[in-house]
Order: sequence, then C-alpha cells, then structure tokens
Amino acid sequence: MLTLDQVKSKSAGRLGDLHPVVLTATGALLQRSYARGIPIMITQGRRTIAEQNELYAQGRTKKGPIVTNVRGGSSYHNYGLAIDFALLLPDGKTLSWDERRDGDNDKVADYREVAEEGKKLGFTWGGDWTSFKDYSHLEMTFGLTTAQLRAGRQPTAQQVKDALAVINGGSGQADELTISLNGRKITAGILENGTTMAPVRAVAEALGAKVTYDPLTRTVNITTA
Ligand SMILES: [Zn+2]
Repeated sequence: MLTLDQVKSKSAGRLGDLHPVVLTATGALLQRSYARGIPIMITQGRRTIAEQNELYAQGRTKKGPIVTNVRGGSSYHNYGLAIDFALLLPDGKTLSWDERRDGDNDKVADYREVAEEGKKLGFTWGGDWTSFKDYSHLEMTFGLTTAQLRAGRQPTAQQVKDALAVINGGSGQADELTISLNGRKITAGILENGTTMAPVRAVAEALGAKVTYDPLTRTVNITTA
C-alpha cells in the first residue's frame, strides 16, 4: 500500500506555477482521493503557450492522436488554473487513463470518484463536457474566459478567499499540514481559510527562541537570544 507522502511526492514536480488556489485544491484532491482508496498522480499543471501549440499540432500537422481542441493561450492550463490527473496503480509506478477502471471495487469508476472530490473543491471536470470529453482534466475558471486571462485579468481577492473557504470547508474540517524547518518536520499544523495555524511553541523553539506564557495578560512571549 502506497503512503500518502509517496503519492504526493509523485506529483510534486508537476505543481510549479499553479495558481495558489488551484495548488491548495490539488493538495486536498490528492489527499481526499487517497482517503477513498484511489491514489492519483498529477500529470500536467501549468503549460506554457508554446507547449500548448505543440500539443495542438499533434494529430493535425504532427503525428499522434488529437488530445486538445485549443491553441496556445486558450487553455486554462496556460494560466495555472487547470490540472490533469491519472490513476496511480498499486505498484506506485504505472499510470492508468482508463475512465472505467474501478480499482477500489465499489462499483463507481475511480475517475468519477476523483472528479466528485474535485467538484467539491470547486473544480469543473472535463468529463462533464458535452462535446470533447477530457476525463483527466479539472479546471477553475473564476468566471474568466481565457481571452480575459490572456489580457491580464486575475481572479479577485474575494474570489480567492471564497474559493479557499470552499476548499477548507468542503470536508467539514481544516486540512492538515506539515510544518518543516530547513527540510525537517517540526510539527503538524492546519490550514484554515487560507491561514496556516501551528503550535507557536514548536515553531519558535525550533527557531531557537524561548516561549513563556503570562496567564494574567494572556500573552505568549517569544524571546530570542
Ligand atoms: Zn487538461
């Protein structure tokens, strides 16, 4: 059985330059899919416009099957707002793109279960599209078209806040985090509405500070040497 850390580490290299909300949602998706017995791997995060054009050429001016209907600049991947995932098989190496696979034997296709978790986190699923179904694809548009994104529009601060509230509230509890200092785990924390909560003593002492508590003034004093 793969551990959650092993599953997460498989995707770590694909998450660079995702929008922070999509990154947070993707972390939660990896965790929640795993909790349902379906380890997944993120196979694509942000894609540059040049990479998108390469992909568009496939099946048209270049060899291979058609895998996308959009040119560079017209994909939410180009703005760090979309991810693609595949099922990670129990050997921890092989990927499956079989949208009918039911590895956890609960009579619901694994792809559909992952999509269900994704939708709870605020993603739109490519498997719900009517024309070109893309079962591996999840995106967050924030109501913006790719033309607007190309022109430099961004999700508003309020949209970001609302999206994070959906991500953190969807499970009815905050998401657990690991707090590490220089690569070494020092304590566990939680992410609540976009704020990291961690035991102050564990963090301060790891940084070489002293922590005392004054119950009269209800003040936590952090003293550095
Ligand atoms: Zn995609």
